[in-house]
Amino acid sequence: MATSTPLAGRIAVVTGAAGGIGRAIVMTLINQGARVYGIDRNAEAQSRMTDALAAVGGYTPYVADLADRTDTDRMLFALRADLANRCDILVNNAGISTLVPFAQTTDEQLDRMFAINVHAGFRITRALLPALLRSEHAAIVNTASELGFIGHAGYAAYCATKGAVLSWTRALAVELAPHVRVNAVCPGPVDTPMLQAEFTASGDAAAAHSHEIAHVPMGRLGTPGDIAGIVAFLASDAAAFVTGAAWTADGGKTVA
Ligand code: NAD
Repeated sequence: MATSTPLAGRIAVVTGAAGGIGRAIVMTLINQGARVYGIDRNAEAQSRMTDALAAVGGYTPYVADLADRTDTDRMLFALRADLANRCDILVNNAGISTLVPFAQTTDEQLDRMFAINVHAGFRITRALLPALLRSEHAAIVNTASELGFIGHAGYAAYCATKGAVLSWTRALAVELAPHVRVNAVCPGPVDTPMLQAEFTASGDAAAAHSHEIAHVPMGRLGTPGDIAGIVAFLASDAAAFVTGAAWTADGGKTVA
């Protein structure tokens, strides 16, 4: 079977690289020919992933807590030295969610959610911008969410961060055109550790799972690969005229 490598020779940076969706993005970008530098706070998961990819090659892990500016700056110093001013693709994918009623949301929860879901992507993008501006194929893909468009009880803080991601994606797309394309992917419910934790937090994981699927016209949860394919497309030259877009991948949930 012929393999397609539309991203051959591209240098990509992916955050939240060792999580459910992030790992699939890393694998897909590597399969399509890119070399990937992956950032995650989970050292153990990074080490497992590096081992799994040792035979294939093309993966360099960085461990950093993106909620911590000092740690992020330390990581960025090392990353930028390794990249030697080359970067074609940046995927700001790291994120956290918390199921908590609005009135009980603490300042600490709100600050942490914005630090990881919004500020980290903003700061990493700013740090890698000089390298992206040197690329002839520069593309940024931000992982937003269906919850950037629609409401959900218990997710006011998370929804606020994903609305912010969509907003800065659009603003940056205008500011950086025609040099760097900036798009967002908006997953619906995707079967990852994050979603499973949310199901558990609801108190009845099986009921939460059934309830979620009942609102998805395609009748199933998304897979991490469903999202990774869209990210790879948005990062590729096949999407050369696509910028400022919010690409929903939710099995039809938000239009139902
Ligand atoms: P996940 O929990 O499986 O993976 C998230 C990864 O981000 C983890 O590996 C985690 O270690 C890393 N991370 C979290 N906080 C970090 C920090 N402070 N510093 C560095 N790394 C950190 O979750 P996922 O479902 O793969 O989510 C990936 C992205 O997709 C997130 O932005 C999430 O908001 C978004 N999303 C997920 C769903 C879903 O249903 N799973 C739906 C819509 C959007």
